[in-house]
Amino acid sequence: MNKKYYLITLGCQMNEHDSEVISAILENMGYLAAMGPEEADLIIINTCAVRKKPEDKVASLLGKFAALKNNNSGLMIAVGGCMSQQVDAAKYLKERFHHLDLIFGTHALPRLPELIRRAADKKETVIDIKEDYSDREGLSVAHSGSFKAWLPIIYGCNNYCSYCVVPYVRGRERSRSMTDILVEARELADHGFLEITLLGQNVNSYGQDLPGNETFADLLAELNRIKGLERVRFMTSHPKDLSNQLIDIVRTGEKICEHFHLPVQSGSNRILEMMNRRYTREYYLNLVGKIKTAIEGVSITSDIIIGFPGEEEDDFLATADLVKKARFENAFSFIYAPRKKTAAAAFQDNTTYREKELRLQRLNEIQHQVSKELNSLLTDQTVELLAEGPSKNDPEVQAGRTRTNKLVHFRSPTDQTGKLIKVKITEARTWNLVGEPVS
Ligand code: SF4
Repeated sequence: MNKKYYLITLGCQMNEHDSEVISAILENMGYLAAMGPEEADLIIINTCAVRKKPEDKVASLLGKFAALKNNNSGLMIAVGGCMSQQVDAAKYLKERFHHLDLIFGTHALPRLPELIRRAADKKETVIDIKEDYSDREGLSVAHSGSFKAWLPIIYGCNNYCSYCVVPYVRGRERSRSMTDILVEARELADHGFLEITLLGQNVNSYGQDLPGNETFADLLAELNRIKGLERVRFMTSHPKDLSNQLIDIVRTGEKICEHFHLPVQSGSNRILEMMNRRYTREYYLNLVGKIKTAIEGVSITSDIIIGFPGEEEDDFLATADLVKKARFENAFSFIYAPRKKTAAAAFQDNTTYREKELRLQRLNEIQHQVSKELNSLLTDQTVELLAEGPSKNDPEVQAGRTRTNKLVHFRSPTDQTGKLIKVKITEARTWNLVGEPVS
């Protein structure tokens, strides 16, 4: 009888994609997906290290799984991903959770079958957190959907923003060859996928480490020619590397979706410098203006860190002012938490957590107002949606996304999942829109 695996994914889209690779590896080894941890022979948690909350979640999950292991000594428990890639976190996991069989880092995926076999034979925890950027090319992917897919184009990051752990856990930038990406994109199109989302910590630096002179905009231009693909999305864009050539291909490429996720992180030049972001608020606002002027109906979303060490009321007010001026469709704002190894972890921080919470609340109020206003502009307009299936909260309602990545709920007598449909917007809300299909 086939063994079963249960995989839990925390964190970002790159991790979700890594989990699709892990699933394919396990299925090639003969494992089948389990419906829950209780029926699994192998449980893997694919962890995130960018924020503290997902790290705390790993501890609570492992605590729960200890009980399962007590009742089933054959159960294998593994932890992979960004948290386990860090030497001190791997040490902590090994010492604190004796029932862990395997700890593997972000670079270990090509070696996973061998690691699982070793862990099955050994009494002590097997650990592989080598910084060996083994070639991932050729590893299969078990796509979790049938009409939209993740497609990584560049791994790692060279930017060393002072708050961010990514360069330490994902390594230096490595662009995939354009040929490999195009082959994969064509295969996806041939299998009926309509939408791909190109992934990279900074997609804008795609190609800088390749021998040719290919740029990210060149890659988008090639992808735009693939028959069968209808939508090409990408994330994340570092503002400092966003070229005019890129704005141009998003404007002209009919398959390239008009959405930029462009994290600003702060609106204060002093804090931006401490964050090592290498742009100013003036540069950023100018860039936003340039994108909005060039591309009709474009949407821009952002990430913002509140309460970075040393952030004073004036710095916060500069961020609030930038949010009012940039008019993001949406901004994902978080309270700063120090991450080990990063430069900012050593910075002096005199602001109380309560003050940071209040700033976050004030910023969210501004952003929610802007989001609602921008959504209202779409009322009575007809937009194209890629229908994604039933809404999370109401199975009677279906959900889809516009090219600009806005969530729209609609009712239809037939299941529209996986289809491109036209919908007339009837109601604008802060987080989503409501529409009616038009024939
Ligand atoms: S660009 Fe900065 S925030 Fe983004 S992954 Fe790289 S270091 Fe982290």
